[in-house]
Amino acid sequence: MKYTLAIHGGAGTIDPDKMTPAKEVAYRTGLINALRAGEKILAAGGSSLDAVEAAVIELENYPLFNAGRGSVFTHEGKHEMDASIMRGDSLLAGAAAGVRGVQNPITLARAIMEKSEHVMLCRDGAEAFAKSIGLTFQDDDYFFDAFRHDQWQQALKENVVQLDHADDKKFGTVGAVALDVHGNLAAATSTGGMTNKRWGRVGDSPVIGAGTYANNKTCAISCTGHGEYFIRAVVAYDISCLIEYKGLSLQQACDVVVHDKLVKLGGEGGLIAADTSGNICLPFNSSGMYRGWLKNDVPPTVRIYKD
Ligand code: ASP
Repeated sequence: MKYTLAIHGGAGTIDPDKMTPAKEVAYRTGLINALRAGEKILAAGGSSLDAVEAAVIELENYPLFNAGRGSVFTHEGKHEMDASIMRGDSLLAGAAAGVRGVQNPITLARAIMEKSEHVMLCRDGAEAFAKSIGLTFQDDDYFFDAFRHDQWQQALKENVVQLDHADDKKFGTVGAVALDVHGNLAAATSTGGMTNKRWGRVGDSPVIGAGTYANNKTCAISCTGHGEYFIRAVVAYDISCLIEYKGLSLQQACDVVVHDKLVKLGGEGGLIAADTSGNICLPFNSSGMYRGWLKNDVPPTVRIYKD
């Protein structure tokens, strides 16, 4: 009985010199907690969909990552979150874009998939839908974080829209992909997007085929990086297509997209990928990516840098 789980907490230029031992421990703890949350479900024969949602909820609730509670500030000093989820058996998908106040955007994305007749809802409408089904909301204090606030003030001063970085240039989006013992794949991604973003900017994370994709015939993918490039390269679906139509292996398809196509476009970032044979890949073209994985016969492992 095979199962796998891979997670990410964002990719980017993560400078070991600027990482304190305490901060590193905190990141690793957040990743391990998320792996454990997903593992509990997979080991008990639960679904990959439940596992990726549980892992992402854990990361959304952990303030160090740019998703849910730790989401970055927009130009107006708010938090606008994007999330999506997809199941590989039915190709059903759900996504929420630019939502405010929702404690767990990934749960909203799943509810959009399961309880509405739509795939993607945004802003006020998505929030009204979330309220109508009783999802938990939080006020601004819940999302306030001094580090994020400083990042935003800096970005305002410099008049730049930036991906989640200050000392470390990194993208703190979170995601999970899983294969369950029933042979089903699922993928989930959640983010606060870019610091100082405005005009309703939406990145790749809630865009099915760009930041998230799952198909039992090919793979499950969750991306992190500069969203504009990931949308233009249709990254997640491109990997699936290279497997489906060109017969590439998961590793080969990931390498082509992350280390060749994206690099040529100028897109920095990475992704996590799983297939139904139990393979997982965690490629990135930046200097680091917060990431972790486990299999039924491989204990939880986490990494930050290229190693
Ligand atoms: N991909 C996300 C976005 O562009 C950012 C990230 O991965 O951190 O919104």
